[in-house]
Formats: sequence, structure tokens, C-alpha cells
Amino acid sequence: MKKLVVKNLHVKVADKIILNGLNLELKKGEVHAIMGPNGAGKSTLAKVLMGDSNYEVIKKTGQKVEMDGKDLLSLDPNERAELGLFLSFQNPVEIPGVRVETFLREAYKARFKDNDNKIEKALEFRKYLISLAEKLSINPDLLKRGLNENFSGGEKKRLEILQMAVLKPEFAILDETDSGLDIDALKTVAAGVKMIIEENNTGVLVITHYQRILEYLNPDKVHVMVDGKVVESGDQRIVNKLEKEGYRKWVS
Ligand code: ADP
Ligand code: MG
Repeated sequence: MKKLVVKNLHVKVADKIILNGLNLELKKGEVHAIMGPNGAGKSTLAKVLMGDSNYEVIKKTGQKVEMDGKDLLSLDPNERAELGLFLSFQNPVEIPGVRVETFLREAYKARFKDNDNKIEKALEFRKYLISLAEKLSINPDLLKRGLNENFSGGEKKRLEILQMAVLKPEFAILDETDSGLDIDALKTVAAGVKMIIEENNTGVLVITHYQRILEYLNPDKVHVMVDGKVVESGDQRIVNKLEKEGYRKWVS
């Protein structure tokens, strides 16, 4: 069984420890939720897994960051993405001048470069992209625009899910993909994520503040993250408890 394994992960940035002995194990096909107060280090975890070089991983004994048994820390972000790791950013970046369609085609070609069945022709790829966009209720006109350029918040988040659909990841981290979405957009995004999981058996780490997306995605496990580590893990009942009690039990 393929797994994403994080053991005893310590990370600092600007001399401040952000992740402080974090452990996590996600199998393919599973959905895990991470919930935690602002500043707990959730986005830092997401970015470190994807290979953001702004963060310094502190060497510790017993430390492990592996996907399918491969050490992720020795790979650059491109290599991680090609292996099938995907991150939907909390704040997707705008890259004016790079068309969405071009960006997605290049990403697709890199991810499936060794796959003989990949779609080769630009026109065919466009058709494929449009059909995926329609499934995710994305206006196909967005495909012709600059990447995230003047996109609304909801459009940016939906485009992240379109990227995910194109890249068919082995493991995906969704960092607050549900934040700022209206109810209809949230439903579309959740349905899109579900479809991708079902088609590809993707393992998904959902970082969220809200119960609603978890009702759709039905996570196998929920982790509470405070001060750079997982302080409690369990089933969805944790979410209800957090709704009532918040994080005060763990926050000093
Ligand atoms: P969360 O996503 O749980 O809200 P973050 O991982 O974004 O938390 O941030 C955790 C802490 O690390 C915060 O105090 C934040 O200010 C700090 N931090 C994150 N990234 C950086 C950075 N690049 N430079 C300085 N501080 C950072
Ligand atoms: Mg965050």
C-alpha cells in the first residue's frame, strides 16, 4: 500500500520553530483532515511537503518524510510533482502572461512524460481540458486567460481543483481550498475532489477550518494540529467537538 509518511518533522523559518515533531501517515485512497488554529503551522507543513525552500528542515533522529518509500526531502518540487504529489495553495499565485491552458498542458506533459497513453495533440488536450472544466463548473473562457490573473477567489480555488484533475495525483494536500467559497462553489469543489479520489485513488490531506467540506468528503481520520504538531487524532466526531469547544484545551 502506497503511503505518505511524516515522522518527527521539525521545521524552522527565520529562526522560529514552526513544526515541532510532527507525525502523520496517509495511505492512498484515504482522506485525512487537519484542523488547527491560525498559525499552528498547517500551511508550513503543506509547503514543506511540496518542497518550498524558504523553510529549513531541522535534522532529527527518526525523521522521515516519504512518499511511496521515497525520501521527499532529497527531491525538488518539480520532482515531487512528477511523482504525483500535489498541493492546492491557500493563496494561489497569479502569473500574468502564462495562459492557464499552456500552464496545465506543460504540467500534464511533465507529470505523464513516461506514459505512452498520454494526450499528445494540443487540440485534443484542449478538448479534454474543456470537458474537465465543465465537470467542475469552470467557465472554459478562463482557460485562455493568464494564470489566476484577476480571477475571483472562487475561480482560483476551482482552478486548483482543475489542476488536480489534470495531474491525477497519488497524494494531494488541499490547503483551505474551501475557504471563501460560496455554498454552490463549495459543493462543486467537493464533488470534484471526490471524483478525482474515486478515479485515481488519491490520498488527500484536507486542511480546513470548516465542518462543511468534511461532511462531503467524509474523512477517514481527523487530526488536530497545534503549535507545530498533531495533538489529537480520531474520527469525524472530533470535528463536532471542535465546533463546540474550539482549541482552548490545547492553546495556552
Ligand atoms: P497556519 O497555516 O496553520 O495558519 P502557517 O504555517 O501559515 O500557519 O504559519 C505558522 C507560523 O509560521 C506563523 O506564525 C507564521 O507567521 C510563521 N511563518 C510561516 N511562514 C513564514 C515565513 N516564510 N517567514 C516567517 N514566518 C513564517
Ligand atoms: Mg494556513
